[in-house]
Amino acid sequence: MSRYWSDLARTIVPYVAGEQPTGRTYIKLNTNENPYPPSPRVIDAIKSAANERLRLYPDPECRELRTAIAHYYDLSIDEVFVGNSSDEVLAFALPAFFNPGSPILLPDVTYTFYPTIAGLFRIDHKTVPLSADFTIPVEGFFRENGGIIIPNPNAPTGIYLPLDAIRSILDNNKEHVVIIDEAYIDFAGPSAARLIREYPNLLVTQTFSKSRALAGLRVGFALGQRELIQGLDRVKNCINAYTLDRLALAGAAAAMRDRAYFEETTAKIKHTRERVAARLREIGFIITSSQANFVFISHPKVPAGALLRQLREKGILVRYFNAPRIDNYLRVSIGTDEEMDVFLKAIEELVAGKQQSS
Ligand SMILES: *Cc1c(COP(=O)(O)O)cnc(C)c1O
Repeated sequence: MSRYWSDLARTIVPYVAGEQPTGRTYIKLNTNENPYPPSPRVIDAIKSAANERLRLYPDPECRELRTAIAHYYDLSIDEVFVGNSSDEVLAFALPAFFNPGSPILLPDVTYTFYPTIAGLFRIDHKTVPLSADFTIPVEGFFRENGGIIIPNPNAPTGIYLPLDAIRSILDNNKEHVVIIDEAYIDFAGPSAARLIREYPNLLVTQTFSKSRALAGLRVGFALGQRELIQGLDRVKNCINAYTLDRLALAGAAAAMRDRAYFEETTAKIKHTRERVAARLREIGFIITSSQANFVFISHPKVPAGALLRQLREKGILVRYFNAPRIDNYLRVSIGTDEEMDVFLKAIEELVAGKQQSS
Protein backbone atom coordinates (compact mmCIF):
# COMPACT_ATOMS: atom_id res chain seq x y z
CA MET A 1 0.00 0.00 0.00
CA SER A 2 1.35 3.39 -0.96
CA ARG A 3 -0.07 6.77 -0.04
CA TYR A 4 0.25 7.65 -3.72
CA TRP A 5 -2.22 5.01 -4.84
CA SER A 6 -5.68 6.15 -5.92
CA ASP A 7 -8.74 4.99 -4.03
CA LEU A 8 -9.30 2.62 -6.95
CA ALA A 9 -5.79 1.13 -6.82
CA ARG A 10 -6.21 0.58 -3.08
CA THR A 11 -9.42 -1.42 -3.34
CA ILE A 12 -9.05 -3.57 -6.48
CA VAL A 13 -8.11 -7.24 -6.12
CA PRO A 14 -5.78 -8.10 -9.04
CA TYR A 15 -5.98 -11.46 -10.78
CA VAL A 16 -3.15 -13.89 -10.00
CA ALA A 17 -1.95 -15.74 -13.11
CA GLY A 18 -0.50 -19.26 -13.01
CA GLU A 19 3.25 -19.49 -12.49
CA GLN A 20 5.67 -19.16 -15.45
CA PRO A 21 8.81 -20.62 -13.90
CA THR A 22 12.33 -19.58 -14.78
CA GLY A 23 15.35 -21.71 -14.01
CA ARG A 24 14.46 -25.37 -13.43
CA THR A 25 12.50 -26.90 -16.30
CA TYR A 26 9.19 -28.29 -15.21
CA ILE A 27 6.56 -30.28 -17.01
CA LYS A 28 4.14 -27.40 -17.18
CA LEU A 29 0.55 -28.52 -16.70
CA ASN A 30 -0.58 -25.39 -14.81
CA THR A 31 -1.76 -22.77 -17.32
CA ASN A 32 -3.56 -24.70 -20.08
CA GLU A 33 -1.04 -23.80 -22.75
CA ASN A 34 -0.94 -25.97 -25.85
CA PRO A 35 1.83 -28.59 -25.62
CA TYR A 36 2.33 -28.48 -29.40
CA PRO A 37 4.07 -25.64 -31.20
CA PRO A 38 2.06 -23.19 -33.30
CA SER A 39 1.61 -24.00 -36.98
CA PRO A 40 4.86 -23.57 -38.98
CA ARG A 41 2.89 -21.16 -41.20
CA VAL A 42 2.44 -18.90 -38.18
CA ILE A 43 6.19 -18.71 -37.61
CA ASP A 44 6.77 -17.99 -41.30
CA ALA A 45 4.14 -15.25 -41.32
CA ILE A 46 5.64 -13.59 -38.23
CA LYS A 47 9.14 -13.79 -39.71
CA SER A 48 8.08 -12.14 -42.91
CA ALA A 49 6.22 -9.43 -40.99
CA ALA A 50 9.41 -8.66 -39.02
CA ASN A 51 10.61 -6.05 -41.51
CA GLU A 52 11.17 -2.33 -41.87
CA ARG A 53 7.44 -1.71 -41.98
CA LEU A 54 7.45 -2.07 -38.17
CA ARG A 55 8.10 1.67 -38.14
CA LEU A 56 4.49 2.13 -39.29
CA TYR A 57 1.45 1.72 -37.07
CA PRO A 58 -0.47 -1.47 -37.74
CA ASP A 59 -3.93 -1.52 -39.33
CA PRO A 60 -6.23 -0.17 -36.57
CA GLU A 61 -9.13 -2.04 -38.18
CA CYS A 62 -7.21 -5.36 -38.19
CA ARG A 63 -8.94 -6.24 -41.46
CA GLU A 64 -6.85 -9.22 -42.53
CA LEU A 65 -7.26 -11.01 -39.20
CA ARG A 66 -10.95 -10.16 -38.84
CA THR A 67 -11.55 -11.43 -42.37
CA ALA A 68 -9.85 -14.75 -41.57
CA ILE A 69 -11.95 -15.17 -38.40
CA ALA A 70 -15.17 -14.11 -40.14
CA HIS A 71 -14.48 -16.64 -42.88
CA TYR A 72 -13.90 -19.45 -40.36
CA TYR A 73 -17.21 -18.73 -38.57
CA ASP A 74 -19.20 -17.77 -41.66
CA LEU A 75 -19.87 -14.28 -40.30
CA SER A 76 -19.21 -10.84 -41.75
CA ILE A 77 -16.16 -8.81 -40.78
CA ASP A 78 -18.49 -6.35 -38.96
CA GLU A 79 -19.39 -9.17 -36.59
CA VAL A 80 -15.78 -9.73 -35.46
CA PHE A 81 -13.74 -7.76 -32.91
CA VAL A 82 -10.10 -8.59 -32.17
CA GLY A 83 -7.94 -7.70 -29.20
CA ASN A 84 -4.62 -8.24 -27.48
CA SER A 85 -5.82 -11.41 -25.67
CA SER A 86 -9.35 -12.45 -24.82
CA ASP A 87 -8.84 -11.06 -21.31
CA GLU A 88 -8.45 -7.65 -22.95
CA VAL A 89 -11.58 -8.21 -25.03
CA LEU A 90 -13.45 -9.03 -21.79
CA ALA A 91 -11.96 -5.93 -20.18
CA PHE A 92 -13.46 -3.81 -22.99
CA ALA A 93 -16.77 -5.70 -22.89
CA LEU A 94 -17.53 -4.91 -19.25
CA PRO A 95 -17.67 -1.12 -19.54
CA ALA A 96 -19.17 -1.45 -23.05
CA PHE A 97 -22.21 -3.46 -21.94
CA PHE A 98 -22.65 -3.39 -18.17
CA ASN A 99 -23.46 -0.63 -15.68
CA PRO A 100 -22.43 0.03 -12.08
CA GLY A 101 -25.40 -0.54 -9.78
CA SER A 102 -26.81 -3.34 -11.91
CA PRO A 103 -25.11 -6.58 -10.82
CA ILE A 104 -24.02 -9.10 -13.42
CA LEU A 105 -24.40 -12.85 -12.85
CA LEU A 106 -21.50 -15.32 -12.83
CA PRO A 107 -21.33 -19.00 -11.88
CA ASP A 108 -19.97 -19.39 -8.30
CA VAL A 109 -17.16 -21.63 -9.53
CA THR A 110 -15.61 -19.98 -12.56
CA TYR A 111 -12.72 -18.00 -14.05
CA THR A 112 -11.68 -15.55 -11.32
CA PHE A 113 -10.68 -12.87 -13.81
CA TYR A 114 -14.39 -11.91 -14.19
CA PRO A 115 -14.93 -10.60 -10.65
CA THR A 116 -11.50 -8.95 -10.85
CA ILE A 117 -12.23 -6.98 -13.99
CA ALA A 118 -15.78 -6.20 -12.81
CA GLY A 119 -14.24 -4.71 -9.65
CA LEU A 120 -11.98 -2.44 -11.70
CA PHE A 121 -15.02 -0.95 -13.44
CA ARG A 122 -17.11 -0.82 -10.24
CA ILE A 123 -19.59 -3.31 -11.70
CA ASP A 124 -21.16 -5.48 -9.00
CA HIS A 125 -21.66 -9.19 -9.50
CA LYS A 126 -23.75 -11.95 -7.97
CA THR A 127 -22.97 -15.62 -8.20
CA VAL A 128 -25.22 -18.48 -9.24
CA PRO A 129 -24.27 -21.70 -7.43
CA LEU A 130 -23.35 -24.61 -9.66
CA SER A 131 -25.20 -27.87 -9.02
CA ALA A 132 -23.49 -30.46 -6.81
CA ASP A 133 -22.02 -32.14 -9.90
CA PHE A 134 -20.60 -28.74 -11.04
CA THR A 135 -23.00 -28.40 -13.97
CA ILE A 136 -24.55 -24.98 -14.61
CA PRO A 137 -28.22 -24.79 -13.48
CA VAL A 138 -29.73 -22.82 -16.32
CA GLU A 139 -32.71 -21.53 -14.24
CA GLY A 140 -30.24 -19.86 -11.88
CA PHE A 141 -29.72 -17.29 -14.66
CA PHE A 142 -33.44 -16.52 -15.06
CA ARG A 143 -33.40 -13.74 -12.46
CA GLU A 144 -32.99 -9.98 -12.45
CA ASN A 145 -29.49 -9.01 -13.62
CA GLY A 146 -27.47 -6.42 -15.48
CA GLY A 147 -25.74 -8.96 -17.70
CA ILE A 148 -24.26 -12.46 -17.63
CA ILE A 149 -20.82 -14.01 -18.18
CA ILE A 150 -20.48 -17.77 -18.53
CA PRO A 151 -17.44 -19.65 -19.81
CA ASN A 152 -18.26 -22.62 -22.01
CA PRO A 153 -16.74 -25.07 -21.27
CA ASN A 154 -16.63 -23.69 -17.74
CA ALA A 155 -13.27 -23.17 -16.06
CA PRO A 156 -11.85 -24.85 -14.06
CA THR A 157 -14.41 -27.67 -14.25
CA GLY A 158 -14.18 -28.17 -18.03
CA ILE A 159 -17.89 -28.99 -18.21
CA TYR A 160 -19.59 -28.05 -21.50
CA LEU A 161 -23.07 -26.54 -21.54
CA PRO A 162 -25.04 -27.65 -24.63
CA LEU A 163 -26.33 -24.96 -27.00
CA ASP A 164 -30.00 -25.52 -26.14
CA ALA A 165 -29.16 -24.51 -22.54
CA ILE A 166 -27.34 -21.39 -23.79
CA ARG A 167 -30.33 -20.63 -25.99
CA SER A 168 -32.68 -20.74 -23.01
CA ILE A 169 -30.41 -18.40 -21.03
CA LEU A 170 -30.47 -16.00 -24.01
CA ASP A 171 -34.26 -16.29 -24.38
CA ASN A 172 -34.74 -15.41 -20.73
CA ASN A 173 -32.35 -12.43 -20.77
CA LYS A 174 -33.24 -10.39 -23.83
CA GLU A 175 -32.70 -7.07 -22.04
CA HIS A 176 -29.01 -7.63 -21.33
CA VAL A 177 -25.83 -8.84 -22.95
CA VAL A 178 -24.87 -12.46 -22.31
CA ILE A 179 -21.14 -13.12 -22.78
CA ILE A 180 -20.15 -16.70 -23.50
CA ASP A 181 -16.38 -17.07 -23.00
CA GLU A 182 -15.34 -19.89 -25.31
CA ALA A 183 -11.64 -20.09 -24.41
CA TYR A 184 -11.83 -23.90 -24.59
CA ILE A 185 -14.60 -24.43 -27.15
CA ASP A 186 -12.35 -26.04 -29.78
CA PHE A 187 -11.82 -29.01 -27.45
CA ALA A 188 -15.58 -29.34 -26.85
CA GLY A 189 -18.90 -29.15 -28.67
CA PRO A 190 -20.22 -26.62 -31.18
CA SER A 191 -19.64 -22.89 -30.63
CA ALA A 192 -22.46 -20.50 -29.77
CA ALA A 193 -21.22 -18.47 -32.77
CA ARG A 194 -24.02 -20.13 -34.75
CA LEU A 195 -26.60 -18.39 -32.51
CA ILE A 196 -25.34 -14.88 -33.23
CA ARG A 197 -27.73 -14.17 -36.11
CA GLU A 198 -30.69 -14.99 -33.83
CA TYR A 199 -29.61 -13.17 -30.68
CA PRO A 200 -28.60 -9.49 -30.75
CA ASN A 201 -27.60 -9.77 -27.06
CA LEU A 202 -25.05 -12.59 -27.51
CA LEU A 203 -21.31 -11.90 -27.41
CA VAL A 204 -18.97 -14.88 -27.85
CA THR A 205 -15.31 -14.46 -26.90
CA GLN A 206 -12.43 -16.73 -27.87
CA THR A 207 -8.65 -16.83 -27.63
CA PHE A 208 -5.66 -17.96 -29.69
CA SER A 209 -3.90 -18.93 -26.43
CA LYS A 210 -5.17 -22.48 -26.05
CA SER A 211 -6.31 -24.38 -29.14
CA ARG A 212 -4.13 -22.31 -31.50
CA ALA A 213 -0.98 -22.61 -29.38
CA LEU A 214 -0.32 -18.86 -29.30
CA ALA A 215 -0.49 -17.88 -25.61
CA GLY A 216 2.73 -15.92 -26.18
CA LEU A 217 1.30 -13.85 -29.04
CA ARG A 218 -1.67 -12.48 -27.02
CA VAL A 219 -4.61 -12.52 -29.44
CA GLY A 220 -8.29 -12.90 -28.65
CA PHE A 221 -11.54 -12.03 -30.37
CA ALA A 222 -15.25 -11.52 -29.93
CA LEU A 223 -18.14 -12.44 -32.22
CA GLY A 224 -21.51 -10.73 -32.10
CA GLN A 225 -23.96 -8.61 -34.05
CA ARG A 226 -22.65 -5.37 -35.47
CA GLU A 227 -23.99 -3.11 -32.70
CA LEU A 228 -22.14 -5.10 -30.03
CA ILE A 229 -18.91 -5.01 -32.02
CA GLN A 230 -19.30 -1.24 -32.39
CA GLY A 231 -19.74 -0.97 -28.60
CA LEU A 232 -16.41 -2.75 -28.11
CA ASP A 233 -14.77 -0.45 -30.67
CA ARG A 234 -15.95 2.62 -28.79
CA VAL A 235 -14.26 1.46 -25.59
CA LYS A 236 -11.12 0.24 -27.36
CA ASN A 237 -10.64 3.53 -29.17
CA CYS A 238 -10.77 5.39 -25.85
CA ILE A 239 -7.83 3.36 -24.54
CA ASN A 240 -5.60 2.23 -27.41
CA ALA A 241 -6.49 2.32 -31.10
CA TYR A 242 -3.74 -0.20 -31.94
CA THR A 243 -4.04 -3.07 -29.49
CA LEU A 244 -2.61 -5.63 -31.92
CA ASP A 245 0.87 -5.22 -33.35
CA ARG A 246 1.95 -6.16 -36.87
CA LEU A 247 3.53 -9.45 -35.81
CA ALA A 248 0.49 -10.58 -33.84
CA LEU A 249 -1.84 -9.66 -36.69
CA ALA A 250 0.22 -11.63 -39.22
CA GLY A 251 0.69 -14.68 -36.98
CA ALA A 252 -2.91 -14.91 -35.85
CA ALA A 253 -4.29 -14.61 -39.39
CA ALA A 254 -1.99 -17.44 -40.50
CA ALA A 255 -3.12 -19.57 -37.54
CA MET A 256 -6.77 -19.05 -38.41
CA ARG A 257 -6.16 -20.06 -42.01
CA ASP A 258 -4.21 -23.25 -41.24
CA ARG A 259 -7.20 -25.44 -40.47
CA ALA A 260 -5.50 -28.78 -41.07
CA TYR A 261 -2.75 -28.20 -38.49
CA PHE A 262 -5.26 -26.88 -35.96
CA GLU A 263 -7.59 -29.84 -36.39
CA GLU A 264 -4.76 -32.34 -36.07
CA THR A 265 -3.29 -30.90 -32.84
CA THR A 266 -6.72 -30.35 -31.28
CA ALA A 267 -7.72 -33.96 -31.99
CA LYS A 268 -4.46 -35.19 -30.43
CA ILE A 269 -5.10 -33.23 -27.23
CA LYS A 270 -8.67 -34.52 -26.97
CA HIS A 271 -7.46 -38.07 -27.45
CA THR A 272 -4.79 -37.69 -24.77
CA ARG A 273 -7.38 -36.13 -22.42
CA GLU A 274 -9.65 -39.15 -22.68
CA ARG A 275 -6.79 -41.58 -22.10
CA VAL A 276 -5.53 -39.64 -19.06
CA ALA A 277 -9.04 -39.29 -17.62
CA ALA A 278 -9.66 -43.03 -17.90
CA ARG A 279 -6.40 -43.87 -16.12
CA LEU A 280 -7.04 -41.32 -13.34
CA ARG A 281 -10.45 -42.88 -12.73
CA GLU A 282 -8.81 -46.30 -12.46
CA ILE A 283 -6.52 -45.08 -9.70
CA GLY A 284 -9.43 -43.66 -7.71
CA PHE A 285 -9.75 -40.04 -8.77
CA ILE A 286 -13.06 -38.24 -8.97
CA ILE A 287 -12.99 -36.38 -12.26
CA THR A 288 -15.42 -34.03 -14.01
CA SER A 289 -16.34 -34.80 -17.61
CA SER A 290 -14.06 -32.09 -18.92
CA GLN A 291 -14.35 -31.11 -22.57
CA ALA A 292 -11.44 -28.68 -22.30
CA ASN A 293 -7.66 -29.12 -22.62
CA PHE A 294 -7.39 -29.92 -18.92
CA VAL A 295 -8.86 -32.33 -16.38
CA PHE A 296 -10.24 -31.35 -12.99
CA ILE A 297 -9.54 -34.02 -10.41
CA SER A 298 -9.89 -34.86 -6.75
CA HIS A 299 -8.80 -37.91 -4.76
CA PRO A 300 -10.99 -39.09 -1.86
CA LYS A 301 -7.93 -40.14 0.21
CA VAL A 302 -5.12 -37.78 -0.75
CA PRO A 303 -5.55 -34.01 -0.25
CA ALA A 304 -5.05 -31.88 -3.38
CA GLY A 305 -2.70 -29.49 -1.59
CA ALA A 306 -0.34 -32.35 -0.74
CA LEU A 307 -0.42 -33.67 -4.31
CA LEU A 308 0.31 -30.17 -5.63
CA ARG A 309 3.48 -29.90 -3.53
CA GLN A 310 4.69 -33.44 -4.16
CA LEU A 311 4.15 -33.16 -7.91
CA ARG A 312 6.14 -29.94 -7.83
CA GLU A 313 9.02 -31.71 -6.08
CA LYS A 314 8.93 -34.21 -8.93
CA GLY A 315 9.16 -31.37 -11.46
CA ILE A 316 5.49 -31.22 -12.47
CA LEU A 317 3.42 -28.05 -12.12
CA VAL A 318 -0.39 -28.25 -11.88
CA ARG A 319 -2.93 -25.64 -10.74
CA TYR A 320 -4.66 -25.47 -7.37
CA PHE A 321 -7.40 -23.01 -6.37
CA ASN A 322 -7.86 -22.37 -2.67
CA ALA A 323 -11.55 -21.52 -3.07
CA PRO A 324 -14.79 -22.83 -1.59
CA ARG A 325 -16.09 -26.10 -3.09
CA ILE A 326 -12.96 -26.75 -5.17
CA ASP A 327 -10.17 -26.67 -2.59
CA ASN A 328 -9.64 -30.40 -2.84
CA TYR A 329 -9.29 -30.35 -6.64
CA LEU A 330 -6.38 -29.96 -9.01
CA ARG A 331 -6.59 -28.65 -12.54
CA VAL A 332 -4.17 -30.50 -14.79
CA SER A 333 -3.53 -29.22 -18.32
CA ILE A 334 -3.22 -31.84 -21.04
CA GLY A 335 0.37 -32.05 -22.27
CA THR A 336 1.94 -34.30 -24.88
CA ASP A 337 1.49 -38.05 -24.46
CA GLU A 338 5.05 -38.31 -23.13
CA GLU A 339 4.47 -35.57 -20.54
CA MET A 340 1.21 -37.13 -19.43
CA ASP A 341 2.88 -40.52 -19.00
CA VAL A 342 5.42 -38.92 -16.65
CA PHE A 343 2.57 -37.20 -14.80
CA LEU A 344 0.51 -40.40 -14.51
CA LYS A 345 3.47 -42.40 -13.21
CA ALA A 346 4.24 -39.71 -10.62
CA ILE A 347 0.67 -39.36 -9.39
CA GLU A 348 0.15 -43.13 -9.24
CA GLU A 349 3.21 -43.41 -7.00
CA LEU A 350 2.03 -40.58 -4.75
CA VAL A 351 -1.45 -42.04 -4.36
CA ALA A 352 -0.12 -45.56 -3.74
CA GLY A 353 2.37 -44.25 -1.15
CA LYS A 354 -0.32 -42.30 0.71
CA GLN A 355 -2.71 -45.20 0.83
CA GLN A 356 -0.05 -47.51 2.27
CA SER A 357 1.03 -45.07 4.94
CA SER A 358 -2.53 -44.33 6.12
C1 LIG B 1 -7.18 -18.72 -20.76
C2 LIG B 1 -8.53 -18.11 -20.58
C3 LIG B 1 -8.83 -16.85 -21.08
C4 LIG B 1 -7.76 -15.89 -21.50
O1 LIG B 1 -7.17 -16.10 -22.65
P1 LIG B 1 -6.12 -15.00 -23.14
O2 LIG B 1 -6.54 -14.75 -24.54
O3 LIG B 1 -4.79 -15.67 -23.02
O4 LIG B 1 -6.24 -13.78 -22.29
C5 LIG B 1 -10.11 -16.37 -21.00
N1 LIG B 1 -11.08 -17.09 -20.40
C6 LIG B 1 -10.83 -18.29 -19.89
C7 LIG B 1 -11.94 -19.04 -19.24
C8 LIG B 1 -9.55 -18.83 -19.94
O5 LIG B 1 -9.29 -20.00 -19.36
